[in-house]
Amino acid sequence: MSHVLTAVAWPYANGPRHIGHVSGFGVPADVFSRYMRMAGHDVLMVSGTDEHGTPILVQADNEGLTPIEAADKYNRIIVEDLVALGLSYDLFTRTTTGNHYAVVQEIFTALHDNGYILAKTTLGAISPSTGRTLPDRYIEGTCPICGYDGARGDQCDNCGNQLDPTDLIGPRSRINGETPKFVEEEHFFLDLPAFAETLGTWLDTRDGWRPNVVRFTRNLLDDLKPRAISRDLDWGVPVPLDGWRDRGDKRLYVWFDAVIGYLSASIEWARRSGDPEAWRQWWQDPQALSYYFMGKDNIVFHSEIWPAMLLGNNGGGAKGGKPGALGTMELPTEVVSSEFLTMEGRKFSSSRRVVIYVRDFLARYDADALRYFIAVAGPETQDTDFTWAEFVRRNNDELVAGWGNLVNRAVAMAAKNFGEIPAAADLQPEDTALLETTRAAFTTVGDLIARNRQKAAIGEAMRAVAAANKYVSESEPWKLKGEENKARQGTILHVTLQAVDDCKTLLAPFLPHSSQKIHEMLGGEGVFAPLPRIEEVDDLDGTGPIGTRGYPIITGDYTGVPAWESRPIHVGTPLAKPVPIFTKLDPSVVEEELARLEAGE
Ligand SMILES: [Zn+2]
Repeated sequence: MSHVLTAVAWPYANGPRHIGHVSGFGVPADVFSRYMRMAGHDVLMVSGTDEHGTPILVQADNEGLTPIEAADKYNRIIVEDLVALGLSYDLFTRTTTGNHYAVVQEIFTALHDNGYILAKTTLGAISPSTGRTLPDRYIEGTCPICGYDGARGDQCDNCGNQLDPTDLIGPRSRINGETPKFVEEEHFFLDLPAFAETLGTWLDTRDGWRPNVVRFTRNLLDDLKPRAISRDLDWGVPVPLDGWRDRGDKRLYVWFDAVIGYLSASIEWARRSGDPEAWRQWWQDPQALSYYFMGKDNIVFHSEIWPAMLLGNNGGGAKGGKPGALGTMELPTEVVSSEFLTMEGRKFSSSRRVVIYVRDFLARYDADALRYFIAVAGPETQDTDFTWAEFVRRNNDELVAGWGNLVNRAVAMAAKNFGEIPAAADLQPEDTALLETTRAAFTTVGDLIARNRQKAAIGEAMRAVAAANKYVSESEPWKLKGEENKARQGTILHVTLQAVDDCKTLLAPFLPHSSQKIHEMLGGEGVFAPLPRIEEVDDLDGTGPIGTRGYPIITGDYTGVPAWESRPIHVGTPLAKPVPIFTKLDPSVVEEELARLEAGE
């Protein structure tokens, strides 16, 4: 039994999140955490909203809000959506807390003291009208290489070349069209080349990572350059150095503070739990495991930059050093990256309204229907297209007609003929075969989830469902009439209900809402698949932008989860006529949703 840290990518709080976002990090991380808890591990699942950087300022301006008001607004929306999806965070917090600011500054100080932060003068773009830094991707102009007019300050989408904003011909701000001003700025850089060797050695010891992550990271390590970690901006964590600390116009770069969020959220969780040192069990024990979940656009931060920051804090790069004030931290066990979800063949885009927000989705469909689609057809190892036709087909054919129907007919027949869970008499070979199939699935499905092969894992669980459906169809218990057949009918229904109970457990990490319902339907008491809750808390320190005001966190009590094993059902448990677990969707849903998409609603 190990301490397992599930570090989930931090959603950016400049708007509501769409289903592409949650399919890349939220749902896979939750499936993993739920399984690991059932397998007996001590899981700490943390994340929060990422609330610094220019996009927040832009969104706040658009809505006539201050940055913290905009962050408050979207933090709350995101918190509500993630809870509605059933994501079992131990703590989902924010980057604007006093605790986060303090932890970020500790890590900066450790890196600085060990010599891994370099000061450099660079040319940066600012908006003449606001005086604010314009991030590279907010600058547009003509590509100096191919002449394409819509090239961005970070790259040209036409020829694919990486660019600097100063390369663009006729640069203009994508926010308001004005010509950016380039000014000399002093900034801090993380000395990534000083970690090249240690990172390479570490990467060699990583087993079982998805090939795309290993390949991508190897390429990164071949070409490490110092990376800017400060910005000319008045929104973010101040640089904790004399002469910088009180400057209103210099802040740490948003990505630098956001990756530290995994650590600061763990510390906040420990402080709130009553044992402020408890986080150390997940971060400082070499036997502890840590899994980081994200979309592929964030691999660089988790497989290269965050490990480098941890090494720098530990004094483990080419320049040596000693551990910072928080102590030595362990590097990630695994970086689990998903590919992208597209929608009806197009890239998700909030601005072009090719989007379906989590909230809108859950207003019309069940959370488990979305979770099922993501698990079975999500972008685990390749880009995947979400289509409404496929969503409706999988919901109706697999969830409703497969799993839902098995539950329904088993419970309905047992309730009608016995009013309770009947006893099993003489087990026939076909009975034992089914029971062995569902029992064996615990090993197969569990191993696959532990190795983050969730698509294969849910495939195996659904194979057990299919075996049970086949067993019922072949043994035809509804044809067994009269007293002389009662014992055999009872045996078949008992075996089927035991298979249903096993499948309910096997599917609990993927489909917690329906597994809980089935648990109750079979006479089970208490919480089987715990769900998260929103709690309104006060900031612990009152020293961040949140101040002393309250904010919503996601947390929950997941301590009583059932073990990952088959449990014998109890003969004589009363059964009532079942209610449908899943909702069958009318095929007209497809037309309606496509019309909504075209209308940009
Ligand atoms: Zn170009």
